[in-house]
Amino acid sequence: MTASRTQIVAGNWKMNLDRTAARDLAAAVAARVGEAGTAELVLCPPAVYVDTVGAALAAVSSPIGLGAQTMHDKASGAFTGEVAPPMLVDLGCRYVILGHSERRTLFGETDAIVNAKTKSALSVGLTPIVCVGETLEEREANRTAEVVTTQVKGSLAGLSPAELEKVVIAYEPVWAIGTGKVATPQQAQEVHALIRGLLASIGSPEVASKVRIQYGGSVKPDNAVDLASQPDIDGALVGGASLKADDFLGIAKAFGA
Ligand code: PEP
Repeated sequence: MTASRTQIVAGNWKMNLDRTAARDLAAAVAARVGEAGTAELVLCPPAVYVDTVGAALAAVSSPIGLGAQTMHDKASGAFTGEVAPPMLVDLGCRYVILGHSERRTLFGETDAIVNAKTKSALSVGLTPIVCVGETLEEREANRTAEVVTTQVKGSLAGLSPAELEKVVIAYEPVWAIGTGKVATPQQAQEVHALIRGLLASIGSPEVASKVRIQYGGSVKPDNAVDLASQPDIDGALVGGASLKADDFLGIAKAFGA
């Protein structure tokens, strides 16, 4: 972590919880937000519970950010089942996760699609959390740098330096997501440094120094401290552990200390 970048810890609840559980979890995290110290917190519930979670946060004037897990790139139209960017803004969202590996592998999201969504999110004032990361097969074939470079360049293509600065990137090695296998702090730092270098070449060193790069993949309170101590790791995107207030806040504390 670098003191000049506000650390950001986001919970990706995926397709879990019901409405009552979502409301209660948001209220529980909001009640203890002070434990996160200087870290910024974001909750990304399932789309149908965004409104409920937003209301739970608003009820206590919480500073916690509200986010969605995906969205369509178009503002409206005949896209059955999809959610438009302005709808998320309407519900109070400030963030949207884009290009999560589950979206890429299970729902066919390409870098071009992630790029269109990233531009669309920025155009309505949403902060995109753009996910990138290699599979185990790619890592073992020594293709991590190549894969991450292609994803970063493709997902962020055509963004102005001012837009680039607003993006949050989540480096999530696919082999570490939901598997209990966390990248070592050194493995993560190496890729985060690579991404920051790419941002410097796409934008400028100044832009790169402002962009927050989260790590994601089996982050837990007990491994968060070492990850947080790395210079280019600026927070975490948390799946499983974000479903328990104690674990999520334990991770937040590591980054906000
Ligand atoms: C994720 O889905 O973004 C994630 C990092 O999941 P987990 O923390 O469960 O590995």
